[in-house]
Amino acid sequence: MTLTVLNPATEEPIAEFEQAGVEEADEAVARARAAYPSWSAVSPSDRARLLRRLATLVEEHAEELARIESRNVGKPISGARGEIGMVAQVFHFYAGAVDKHYGDTIPVADGVAATFREPLGVVGLIVPWNFPLNIASWKLGPALACGNTVVLKPAELTPLSALRLAELALEAGIPDGVLNVVVGKGSVVGQRLIEHPDVAKIGFTGSTEVGRLVMKGAAETIKRVTLELGGKSANVVFANADLERAAAAAPYAVFDNAGQDCCARSRILVQKSVYDEFLDRLVEATRGLRVGDPSLEETEMGPLISQEHRENVASYVEGVPKLFEGEALEKPGFWFPPTLVEATNEHRVAREEVFGPVAAVIPFEDEADAIHIANDTPYGLSGSIWTRDGARALRVARALETGVLSVNSNSSVRVQTPFGGFKQSGFGRELGMQALDGYSEVKSVFISTEE
Ligand code: NAP
Ligand code: MG
Repeated sequence: MTLTVLNPATEEPIAEFEQAGVEEADEAVARARAAYPSWSAVSPSDRARLLRRLATLVEEHAEELARIESRNVGKPISGARGEIGMVAQVFHFYAGAVDKHYGDTIPVADGVAATFREPLGVVGLIVPWNFPLNIASWKLGPALACGNTVVLKPAELTPLSALRLAELALEAGIPDGVLNVVVGKGSVVGQRLIEHPDVAKIGFTGSTEVGRLVMKGAAETIKRVTLELGGKSANVVFANADLERAAAAAPYAVFDNAGQDCCARSRILVQKSVYDEFLDRLVEATRGLRVGDPSLEETEMGPLISQEHRENVASYVEGVPKLFEGEALEKPGFWFPPTLVEATNEHRVAREEVFGPVAAVIPFEDEADAIHIANDTPYGLSGSIWTRDGARALRVARALETGVLSVNSNSSVRVQTPFGGFKQSGFGRELGMQALDGYSEVKSVFISTEE
């Protein structure tokens, strides 16, 4: 079957593919398996050199890759440039990390034990459409650094940047078969990777719903899994915060990438004593958001990914009182206006991941109430705390059930720091040195000193 890839800002086709099926998935696994013995035998410092070359090629092709991503996802070019910049940083980071990730020597009775870090083998990487190359790099960096070979399945809506990266990897000198990309449906190609006996691990980012299927499917062959799933994060604004800064930042924490961000702070919790003042500022800041053509430098928000997704997002705001609704663009493209709604934490719009430009504003009484509401969700991925009281910031940060947090900022993703979820936002950590643990096994070897 032919797969047509669209530009969501124009609804125009930008590429066509023959979709891969089970057979192509099996072929890719076979190529990765054939490449594994020699790739895993490359010394860590030589693997580092190749990854560094790939990072440099990404930098040299940054504008091209950013344009591909902007056109395929409908994301503003400025944001796409930032994401590609991070892709290069990720490869640089793991190039620098790989020959510093090694084992211990442990004194034990009658001898000594040494631990070694061994690669897993062939790993399957399944990624979503919202940050296609960025999220792929979070997995590729540590997976390749540790000596694994890879089959990457991009989302069928957004395969273009992954295919270009695979070409750059060959140009960098990474041997054929080490990084394979298969473009096909999740329920076919993704499912096959999950079941495949020669795949040692699935690194998955996507919805909690599909995450459950990955976990179930992996049970059969006891595959390792890392699951980066959905979120419903809280942006907690205390009365003693710098309200001007908090309100200016809040729209970007949920409307960036048109809200299609697992870290979106889509529940804005505001202390009652400053609710009206904060809301005025928030509405003003949201009104100022520049929605439109993603290829323009000044654009801050583009369309949603697809018509189907737009209908899904719309279903969340039907019949809910709106505090603000931006202008809907009446032209081709899957546009949806930035929307603020008033809600309690019990409402569907406050409980489920909307994955669109919709934020629920929720008032709270005091610190205990804020913590209770913020934690009253099955998710636990991200969040923010705004306060000028340092002790409170730390108390609340420790109390929130979430994997990643920021204080007086909405930015919590850094190449150097571990990223991942609590609760139904998944498990396992990406980025930072921790990600290397997810793509290697620890082997323990005892050496007898007995005569
Ligand atoms: P999705 O529907 O779960 O899809 C994610 C990936 O899984 C895609 O490549 C998809 O392929 C594939 N897939 C779908 N069904 C599958 C199956 N039965 N077996 C194996 N693979 C399957 O997620 P999405 O709609 O692309 O992305 C949105 C979700 O991703 C949100 O929930 C968001 O929170 C989450 N997300 C999480 C993080 C994080 O780091 N925690 C980051 C970004 C996004 P096809 O699309 O080609 O069918
Ligand atoms: Mg989906």
